Amino acid sequence: GGLLEQLSFSGGKIIRKQTSVKAVNNVSFTINSGEIFSVVGESGCGKSTLARTAMGLYPPDNGEIYYKEDRIDNLSPREMLPFRAKMQMIFQDPYASLNPRMTVKQTLEEPYVFHNKSASQKEVIDKVSEVMEQVGVNPKWALRYPHEFSGGQRQRISIARALMVNPEFIAADEPISALDVSIQAQILNLLMDARSQRGLTYMFITHDLSVVAHISTRVAVMYLGTLCELAKAGTLFNEPRHPYTKALLSAIPKIGQARPPHVKLKGEVPTPINLPSGCVFHGRCLYADKRCVNEIPGLTKLESGTLAACHGIEEGRL
Ligand code: SF4
Ligand code: MG
Repeated sequence: GGLLEQLSFSGGKIIRKQTSVKAVNNVSFTINSGEIFSVVGESGCGKSTLARTAMGLYPPDNGEIYYKEDRIDNLSPREMLPFRAKMQMIFQDPYASLNPRMTVKQTLEEPYVFHNKSASQKEVIDKVSEVMEQVGVNPKWALRYPHEFSGGQRQRISIARALMVNPEFIAADEPISALDVSIQAQILNLLMDARSQRGLTYMFITHDLSVVAHISTRVAVMYLGTLCELAKAGTLFNEPRHPYTKALLSAIPKIGQARPPHVKLKGEVPTPINLPSGCVFHGRCLYADKRCVNEIPGLTKLESGTLAACHGIEEGRL
């Protein structure tokens, strides 16, 4: 107990402007200080949109976002500035998120000077060196350009850029999925070390449940812009309840098992432009009935604290 609410999010319908795809539907959650809150789902499920919206980068068309006690979804860019420093984002592709024409020093200086206008040149240089060291990139390389680094080192530099402004909250959108498997654990460890040293809170977005199994405090499972299940990580992995969560989990191979017992999903992921009626998962669910086709399931709170959106669970047949 005693945890501060770090971010509360209640997005009604979030429309991704360019495509008019309804990417996230009636998803609400609160992330507590110090949490690693993971959002898991297949690509196209709206998890990146959810993260960007929660960060105030996309406006929700209804719903509210609070950072601690401050509402942030209706702020002007100027009013949003202090929150921009507290809330940072790390992206999947460190090539795309680093400017190829800027040295590491320039890349790291930019956000720091922007948020610390009165910093002296020495303070800036000291801060760049300190943060480079913290992320495991030799400060001697500060004048090199992104292309002179490996993918893992580039992701370290992206993380350094986020850390330069002393954030409290970091949303990491698939931060390791573009990296070699041998590098992934190192970057994950770096993120976890930064968290314990700085008391960071994370929102961790991934398509890979096995990545978040061991690090998360809570996990939200999304399918086609809809929250299927929200649970403490241990509970989710030991007692998954929603049929979609069960299917995702059964796809993770377990040690000592030649072949995972794969819970089969019927059919393909439908296009989000033409969302299915009722439960968005009904076309692929082995337990779907007439009600599932016609009625959108609400969230049921289970004894374990798990929230699940499923008629079968609410009716006690699942
Ligand atoms: Fe399956 Fe129906 Fe539950 Fe959706 S609501 S997951 S279709 S049983
Ligand atoms: Mg994405």
